[in-house]
Amino acid sequence: MDFKKFVYNYLNTGVVQTNDPESNQQIFVANLFSFIGYSITFLMGVSAFIRQDRLLGAVLIIACLLFFSSHLILRSKRITNPYKFSSNIVTSSLMLLMVYLVYTGGVNGTGPLWIYIVPPVALFFGGMRKGTRNIGLFVLVISVLMFYPNDEWLGTSYTYAFKSRLIYSFLTVSCLFAFYEYVRQTSFYRIQEMSRKFEKQAMRDPLSGLLNRRGMQEKLQQEFDRSQRYKNNLTVMMCDIDHFKIVNDQYGHDKGDEIIKGLGDIFKSGLRKQDSLARWGGEEYLFLLPETNGSQAMLLAEKLRSKIEETQYNQDNKTFSVTVSIGLHQIASSDTINQAITKADTNLFKAKEQGRNRCIID
Ligand code: GH3
Ligand code: MG
Ligand code: MG
Repeated sequence: MDFKKFVYNYLNTGVVQTNDPESNQQIFVANLFSFIGYSITFLMGVSAFIRQDRLLGAVLIIACLLFFSSHLILRSKRITNPYKFSSNIVTSSLMLLMVYLVYTGGVNGTGPLWIYIVPPVALFFGGMRKGTRNIGLFVLVISVLMFYPNDEWLGTSYTYAFKSRLIYSFLTVSCLFAFYEYVRQTSFYRIQEMSRKFEKQAMRDPLSGLLNRRGMQEKLQQEFDRSQRYKNNLTVMMCDIDHFKIVNDQYGHDKGDEIIKGLGDIFKSGLRKQDSLARWGGEEYLFLLPETNGSQAMLLAEKLRSKIEETQYNQDNKTFSVTVSIGLHQIASSDTINQAITKADTNLFKAKEQGRNRCIID
């Protein structure tokens, strides 16, 4: 295995295809942070041992092991939410290590220089709310340690100017990171919202606002499965506007569009919440009626047909109306979805043949 592939696989430990991309990105970063964490603490720990600073060396090696364990956790298949567990370990061991460095001063009082790692890590893993809470807690702890009278709670001593500037600069960096995290999160939610909206739009016909074929296929599958499982009645109705070509020719294409939309509105007003309606083709509508048998659907079809017949349209001082033909089919347990639609289509064809403006069921 080449080196690039090895690094890629390592950083993607714990990534699952079924996760959303945001979660997988977080797991990727968790692996990266734990790798940086244990490498640096390991090197600094060894160097502390070489300088004979055994206590600092031991603390750094413990931190190194904790960072490494957070990576091992991501490999685990037994823990229910390995990412959460692992990121909690990374964040808390990092904060504890930083508290320790502030307390002891690290090497010649340089320990506090490392605390700026806390805000990005805490905010990335904890998100806005938990991240700011953890940062607040951290500031509180190091402030108490540093400003406790006579340095009694410190293993070293800092000047007042150093301590106060350390806190101010830390708070500034934290605010900038929190702002950055806020912008990142809001734009992420906005993009998510937009993609949901686009997905919904892709299921709808722009002219009538009804489901399009793609949207209806999904409903058909759902309702078909449900009716098979619970042995419920399910009826489909295929409706087509009669002589629509003539309507277009006489009154114009725009009027035709208006009628297609208007019919959709009339149909919708006659349906129940669980019913679905789609613009199946140019001037064709498909109805899906769950928990409805053939004769109940026939009553509805007749009601809708006569309502359409009675609706008047105006164009160039002329009044006219359109009619529709409807073919119905109550789905049998032996039917596939396509067979059921073909049967409704066949009945529609019969309605056309028998003179239009009528409903036919088999
Ligand atoms: P039939 O009673 O046999 O259904 O006759 P028809 O004229 O309605 O049938 P045909 O399938 O021959 O023609 C359908 C017409 O519907 C032709 C087409 O111009 C029109 N049409 C299809 N989609 C639209 C649309 O989006 N807007 C408008 N205005 N007309 C459309
Ligand atoms: Mg037609
Ligand atoms: Mg047609």
